[in-house]
Amino acid sequence: MNLKQKNKQRRLRRLADPEAAKVRDRLRYQRDRERIKNRQKRYYHLRNRKMRKAQYEKQKEFWCTRQKVYYAKWIAETRKLLGGVCACCGEFEQEFLCFDHVNNDGRFEKKNKGGSRSRSFVTKIRRALRSGDRKRIAEIKKAFQILCQNCNYSKHRGKGICVHKRRTHPTRR
Ligand SMILES: [Zn+2]
Ligand SMILES: [Zn+2]
Repeated sequence: MNLKQKNKQRRLRRLADPEAAKVRDRLRYQRDRERIKNRQKRYYHLRNRKMRKAQYEKQKEFWCTRQKVYYAKWIAETRKLLGGVCACCGEFEQEFLCFDHVNNDGRFEKKNKGGSRSRSFVTKIRRALRSGDRKRIAEIKKAFQILCQNCNYSKHRGKGICVHKRRTHPTRR
């Protein structure tokens, strides 16, 4: 007897006496409760995971690029608000630029609540500069500036003063 025939027989048996079939079902469930429950759970999780993964794969590229583009734009805008060029040497290539704490008090910012530190202080700068409040803008401009990576690094090595300002004569090339 193949499976099809077997199923047909089962169906007929069920139709012949539905009440007895129900009792049989219940008994089987009670006997095998753990196994059946586990099987259902496993199936549910597997299916869920597969579905979620498929959905994520489908939209991954879209979201990733969208987020990257948005973030880059957001950072570039904020940089522009703060001057957009290196405050020390005038470098204007955007990829070289970064935000700098004028008084080297970046480590005190770390305790800011919520979000990553870099984003939270960029948010702070951005909000202040766009608020139109002169006092706030002046405060932020006093606390933050744009530096290129070279000047930023040099400033940290030179205890707060970039080599451009430490030496009266630039390094010979
Ligand atoms: Zn510079
Ligand atoms: Zn410099």
